[in-house]
Amino acid sequence: MNPVTVEPTANRVYALSLDSSQFASEAGLALGWSTQKALERYRQFFRTGASAGLESNLPAPIVRQLRDPSPEGEVLKFTQRVPALPDDAQRWRVITATSAATRLSHFDSLETESVLIPMIGRTGKPAYTLCVSSQVGCAMGCTFCETAQMGLIRSLTPGEIVGQWFAATYVLGIRPRNIVFMGMGEPLDNYDNVVQAISVLKDHNGAAVPISKISVSTVGRLDGLRKLAHQLHQPGWHRLNLAVSINAAEDSLRSSLMPVNRSMPLADLQHALMHWPVYGGGKLCFEYVLIPGVNDSREDAAHIGRLVRPIDDHYRTVRAAVTPRVMLNVIPYNPRRDSPWPAPEEDAVDRFLGWLTEETVYAKRRRTKGRRMMGACGQLGSEAIRGRRPVPLSVSAQATPNPAIAG
Ligand code: SF4
Repeated sequence: MNPVTVEPTANRVYALSLDSSQFASEAGLALGWSTQKALERYRQFFRTGASAGLESNLPAPIVRQLRDPSPEGEVLKFTQRVPALPDDAQRWRVITATSAATRLSHFDSLETESVLIPMIGRTGKPAYTLCVSSQVGCAMGCTFCETAQMGLIRSLTPGEIVGQWFAATYVLGIRPRNIVFMGMGEPLDNYDNVVQAISVLKDHNGAAVPISKISVSTVGRLDGLRKLAHQLHQPGWHRLNLAVSINAAEDSLRSSLMPVNRSMPLADLQHALMHWPVYGGGKLCFEYVLIPGVNDSREDAAHIGRLVRPIDDHYRTVRAAVTPRVMLNVIPYNPRRDSPWPAPEEDAVDRFLGWLTEETVYAKRRRTKGRRMMGACGQLGSEAIRGRRPVPLSVSAQATPNPAIAG
C-alpha cells in the first residue's frame, strides 16, 4: 500500500505539533520571526494558554463533557471534535493506506476522548492524571474493550494528542500532573506521532511535563517496543514509563482476548521485556484486566507468576535491584457495551490479589473510576462511529522473530 501524502498546509507553524526548536525554525522560515520572538511566543502559549499571534494553533474544540463523582474527586471525560482528515502540521504523516482516505470520506468529523482522573496525593490535595487517546478507534481488537468495537478510524497527529493536554489545562482549567497513553488506540501503532507528541509535552520551553510523569501503555507490539527502547537511551527519555497490557499469561487465553498475541506470543514478549531499559528507580508495569470466569482463577495467577518472576529476577540480579522492579496493576473489568461479562465482585478481586502475593508477584489494585459514564479503562469509544465501522478488526502487526530489544 502506498502512503497517502498529505500536503503541508499554510498552517505549518503549528505549536501543538512542534517542540520549541522545531517551532523556532518553522516560524523563522514561514513568518520571518527571530528565534527569540518565536521562543517567547511558544513559552507564552504553553505556559499561559495565551494565543496572541497563534490563534490558529488552538486545539480541537471540546464538544462534550461528562462528570462522575468518585471518593477522590470528580472524574471528567471530555470529547474533542477533530476533522475526518487531519489538518495540523501535515509533515507528520498520519495515514498509511491510500484506501484510508476513501474510508475517511464517510465522516464529516471524528471525536477523540480523554479522561481526567483525580487522585488524592500525599499532600491531601487531588492531583489529576490525564488519559489521552492516540488514535480514533483501534485496530488491535481486544475482545474486552469498547474502543476495539470501532475498528481503527485514523491515527491522531502530534498536535491532536498534545491538544488534549492543552484543552484540559486551559479550557477546563485542570493541569494534569501525569499523562498516560491509555485512551483510545494503541500508541505503538502510531509510533512516530506519539514520540513527537511526547517530545512536545516534555519540552522545557513549553508544557514541561516531566518525562517521569508520562506513561505509554501498549499491548506489547514488539516492533514498537524495540524502537521505543532505543528512544529511551536518548538523553531526556530515560524515565519514560512503560505499561504492558497482559490480561492473560497463557498463550491460548491471551490470543482469544488479544489477537496481537497470535503473532507476538508471550515468550517473545517476555524475552523482549527482559531487556527493557529500566533506569534508576523506575518500574516496569503490567496491566491485567480481571474478567470474571475468564482470567481470574488460581491457575491464572500461577501463569502470571511464571511470566513475571523471571523478568523481575533478571532486574534484581543483573541490575542489583533490591526492590521489585515489575509491578502488576490489577484492573477490575469495566464492562463495555453489550459485554458478555459482568464486572468482578470485590471479594473475587481481593482473592486474586491474595493469590498473586502467594506467587510473589508485586501487585496493586487499580481503583475503579468513571465506570458509570463509560469513562473507565477499556470503555472509551463512540457508539455512533462504531455503527459505521470502516476498518475491519484485524491485527496488522508484523512479527519479528526473537526480537532482542536492547540489540
Ligand atoms: S485495549 Fe487498548 S489496544 Fe486493545 S483494543 Fe482497546 S484501545 Fe486498542
